[in-house]
Formats: sequence, structure tokens, C-alpha cells
Amino acid sequence: MELGVQHDRALEIALANPLAKKVETIPFDHANGRVLATSLTSRVDDPRFDNSAMDGFAVRASDCKEKPSTLIIVGTSQAGGEQPPAIGPGQACKIMTGAPLPKGADAIVMVEDTKTDQDRVTILGPARKGYIRRRAENLSRGQEALPTGATLSSATLALAGTMGHGEVEVVKRPTIGIMSTGDELVPPGSELMPGQIYESNSHALASLVESMGCHAVRHESVTDSMDELRARLDELSSHDAILTSGGVSMGEWDIVRRIMEEEGDLSFWRMMIRPGGPPLFGTWRGTPLFGLPGNPVSSLVVFHVLVAPWIARSLDYHNELGPSISRRVSVLLEEDIPGAPGKLCLRRIRIRSDNGQLLATTHTHQGSGNMHSMVAHNGLTLLPPDTDGRAGEIIEAMWLV
Ligand code: AMP
Ligand code: MG
Repeated sequence: MELGVQHDRALEIALANPLAKKVETIPFDHANGRVLATSLTSRVDDPRFDNSAMDGFAVRASDCKEKPSTLIIVGTSQAGGEQPPAIGPGQACKIMTGAPLPKGADAIVMVEDTKTDQDRVTILGPARKGYIRRRAENLSRGQEALPTGATLSSATLALAGTMGHGEVEVVKRPTIGIMSTGDELVPPGSELMPGQIYESNSHALASLVESMGCHAVRHESVTDSMDELRARLDELSSHDAILTSGGVSMGEWDIVRRIMEEEGDLSFWRMMIRPGGPPLFGTWRGTPLFGLPGNPVSSLVVFHVLVAPWIARSLDYHNELGPSISRRVSVLLEEDIPGAPGKLCLRRIRIRSDNGQLLATTHTHQGSGNMHSMVAHNGLTLLPPDTDGRAGEIIEAMWLV
């Protein structure tokens, strides 16, 4: 067991017990939001054949040098239609966007630049080769165009479809069990007895888990009793991983830490970060378990800097195209932000784009119980240990998305 580990080391330790990566093949129709388990290569040339980028006329450029010139219309080429007749000198073929280019044609004139009179067309504007979309100019059959670990959504999904995949091999969504601990917690909306507060962490964590491409199962909170906690953790160990919140500090009632020390397999406790110092990682009956702090801000911050990268690395998510809840960016500080002695300092900042530069400011007080501060801000500084941030300096940060 390691005590008080640096951020990088914490991730390295946790990755010794990664989230198990399983794959499944699913119909393309169900692939929205899923993550590719293999790279995808194109099953077709894209475009499949030379076609027109415009509605207009397919012509021979050499016939259109003089303006106006008049050509004989020999047929029509429609998208999805048959191969049109070839054109010879002095001839043109009416053509629609996406329709195959007739043999003999080497340019397109836009319909707006023509005048038609029965079987004749007068060319009034330019005949452009650039209006022809050439076979395979986007992708060749067999070409790899989507990497492993990419999320299938809008553009990636459309590209997989363009490439002809009727089924895709994707990462099976792991199931992550989430449970808050604390005698004081009751569900939002219930009547509060003296000393009770509303439980919110499990909702935030479930949302983050889902954003990371996993299936979140929220369990009812557990009271600060060793026997109850043991029984509930046994239940949760059927999931692929467990997230608990609360009960990992130094207090007498911090029983997640106690039970993991005494009966679990504890890999580390405490991280050199601020806020969010108390987390632990280990396994419970073989299932990876993160004991996140109870303080609401801390539990989210630790998810962002530790649990999210653990999921991403375990499941081989692609850096740019895979599921992510933050992006690393460089920001210009508009005010001094103090760092933390010996700890990676994750101050909440509001990032905004202004005139080609990302600027960062702070707005509310930064107590780790102040959930409003996570809404008033949209980023975290990544100030290295013992490093203050000065107004006017550019520093690394995480933009929470
Ligand atoms: P703990 O880590 O259990 O000592 O909790 C630290 C602080 O966070 C205490 O003020 C708790 O009341 C609060 N807290 C713990 N768990 C939650 C939760 N699930 N939702 C909201 N607040 C919590
Ligand atoms: Mg507690």
C-alpha cells in the first residue's frame, strides 16, 4: 500500500487493476454513442464513381471555350439512375448532383449558367473540371479511416456508414456501481431531519460515468456501519468497478478507508492533489474500487483527474476522438492563483475564449463543499506542486466539457 501518492503515480497504480475491456458486435443502427473496438477500413471507394458536384450539364471543356456555345443534349444522368450515354464533340448530357459522369465528358457547367431550348443547351458560364467528384478522391477501398477507440457520433457515425459497415465491433459498456456513504445523507426531495443533508454525489458521478461510455448503476446510500458497508460492497462487487463517495478521510467514521485497510486489498490512500486529497484505490473481492472523497467538489475533481483517465486508458479510448469529459488546454491567467505546497493544484477556473486566446478567471469561493463553484467555473488549473500561477502567465488547465 502506498500513502500520499502523486497524481501520475496514482493513475499508474490504479491501471495495474484496469477496467476489463470486453467487445461485442452490434448492428450499425444501434451504434450511436458506442466506442470502436477495432479500426474501420472502407469497404468501398468514396466516391464510388466519377460524379457531378452540381446540377447542370456534363460537357467537353474544349466545346465550351467560346461563349456562348450551343450543344446538343443527348440524355440525362440521374443520381441512382443508369449509366448515361457517352457524349461526343458538340454534345452535352443533363446531369444531377451525385449522378454518374457520362463517358467523354470532362467538365460540368452549372444549370444557372445555361439556357435550354428543347434538345439544345446554350452555355453561358464556365465549364469546370472541379465540379467533377472523382472516384476514390475521399477514400479508397481498404483504407483505414476510423481509429480504435473513436466514439461513433454524428460525423464518425456517418463515415462508418459511408464506408459500408452494417455491423461494428464496439467496446462493451462496463457497468460501474456507485454508492455514497454517510449517516447524514437522504435523497433530494425527502423531508430533512436535524443533521441530515441531501445526497448529490452519486448523481454527479453517475452522469460522469455515463459520459465516459460506461453504464452507471446508482445504489442507495449506505450508513456509516461496517457490517452494512461490507454487505453492500459485496453486492456491488458484481459490477465491473465500484465508486464510493465519503468515508475516506482521517475521521473515526471514515469506514470505507477502514474496511479497505482491514478487509479489502488497498493499493493507495491519499493523493498529492488539492482539492481531493483523501481518495483511495484498491480491489474489493477482486473488483476495482475507487473510494472518492465525500466533499462534493472533491469527488468530482478526483473523478476528472483519476477515474476518467483510468477508464479511458483501460478501454483504449482515442485521445481526440474517444469519450472525454475534459480537454487539456493552455490558458492565460487574468489573476494570481496560488498553488499548493507539494500538491498538484486544481483550482476551479472559468475559461472563455477572447480574441484568439483562452482566458481564465475565478469567481466564487473555492471550498470543496461548494458545488455552486463547479457550476460557476468550467475548468481546473493543473498547477504543478509548489507553483503559483501569476496574472498574465499561460498555464496548463483542464477544460471540463
Ligand atoms: P466524508 O468524506 O464522508 O467525511 O464527507 C465529507 C463532507 O461531504 C461532509 O460534509 C459530508 O456531509 C459531505 N458528503 C459526503 N457524501 C456526500 C454526498 N454523497 N452528497 C453530498 N454531500 C456529501
Ligand atoms: Mg462521511
